[in-house]
Amino acid sequence: MTDAPVVTRFAPSPTGYLHIGGARTALFNWLYARGRGGKFLLRIEDTDRARYTPEATQAILDGLTWLGLDWDGDAVSQFESADRHAAVAHEMLAAGTAYKCFASQDEIEAFREAARADGRSTLYRSPWRDVPESEHPDAPFAIRIKAPQEGDITIQDAVQGDVTWKADALDDMVLLRSDGSPVYMLAVVVDDHDMGVTHVIRGDDHLANAARQSMIYTAMGWDLPVFAHIPLIHGPDGKKLSKRHGALGVMEYAAMGYTPAGMRNYLARLGWSHGDDEVFTTKQALEWFDLDGIGKAPARLDFKKMENINRHQIGISDSETMVRDVQSYLTAVGQPVLSDDEAKAFADAFDKLDVTDKTVGDLLAKFAFVLDKPPFTLDEKAEKLLDPVSRGILTQLTPQLQTASWNREALEQTVMEFAEAQDLKFGKLAGPLRVVLSGRAVSPSVFDMMMIIGRDETLARLAHVVG
Ligand code: GLU
Repeated sequence: MTDAPVVTRFAPSPTGYLHIGGARTALFNWLYARGRGGKFLLRIEDTDRARYTPEATQAILDGLTWLGLDWDGDAVSQFESADRHAAVAHEMLAAGTAYKCFASQDEIEAFREAARADGRSTLYRSPWRDVPESEHPDAPFAIRIKAPQEGDITIQDAVQGDVTWKADALDDMVLLRSDGSPVYMLAVVVDDHDMGVTHVIRGDDHLANAARQSMIYTAMGWDLPVFAHIPLIHGPDGKKLSKRHGALGVMEYAAMGYTPAGMRNYLARLGWSHGDDEVFTTKQALEWFDLDGIGKAPARLDFKKMENINRHQIGISDSETMVRDVQSYLTAVGQPVLSDDEAKAFADAFDKLDVTDKTVGDLLAKFAFVLDKPPFTLDEKAEKLLDPVSRGILTQLTPQLQTASWNREALEQTVMEFAEAQDLKFGKLAGPLRVVLSGRAVSPSVFDMMMIIGRDETLARLAHVVG
């Protein structure tokens, strides 16, 4: 092996969103390349024109961007290279590794029916494989590869090990249809070759394709990339992931309050491991990621684990990243993003408070006291805490807070001493004060809130209720 720079690619078919399985494939390719100073390329496999829309491509770019997976250069359109794909089929024709097949669809169907009736393999064997050019009709033709007819084809897969197919189980696949359009299998190989891809990391639903694709590499005398076919993701029930499991697109996870760092961490662990490490930074993942750590068994989605990892990642996030994640979350759920002032207040509070929230939504609820402005709309529970007795107590507490030194120790002392003097349990005082400061019955500690919003705002909020 030479140490040629690593080039990986993510080659999604634009289906309208970035599937969670695709996101993991993209992440593995990104980690592998970026961790080795290599390139990570993006190719949109948009040859199915009947289904293609620009919005579908944009959805994939948006998903990757949200996840923080940047690619080198522009996203490449597979469709735009159709002429090049066709040219390669013609090169193979000229080199004798492919041939013109004049069989019509009806003839192929008739072959298959006869084979079925005789109990033979229905794999199509074109009668044109060895017919000399001089005997060719002047008619439309498809170009088929001259596949080896005996022996084995072995793919050395970095995850699956050596996987072997009997050559006679593979037919002379069509490379170029009679309308001149290249088939997908050819396009993938030509693009991977032309893009200089050294490692193909993708779902193991493409493993059988690798055998067919290898025939094209061999016919063209091109080096094969390293193949790494990763087991698919299964749902929590162990079944293949499908619509029935819900949430298939990464932006749905964004809307559930998962952060990009949380998703990267969780997806990295989905089918790959590094010892017992569950929570790690992206920097660590870049250092550690290797094909050896990819398991052979399908990984199962586990929402508890995902939440747990997300909680850890929110806990270690810096405020700048968190603000960005909050804005993406709000966009994903269709709510207005934070203004500059709100974002600043949020970031400041985020820096000052310990957070243990599982989702961005929980985090926003916790920080409502810096984002919402009084007068607050109280729910029933909060309303109950502000009964006339509590209001009376708060009225008496106000002057104490007006003169207290504004540091946490002094505030705790002032409030505790006040409670004692009034013969009150601290909780009796904290509940109403919490509602005054946050408008909610559940919030961070009253002292944390007072420290963060400051004396003037604390007194202003008290004045709203008891003033
Ligand atoms: N376009 C294929 C897909 O979305 C991937 C092909 C490949 O990675 O070779 O499943």
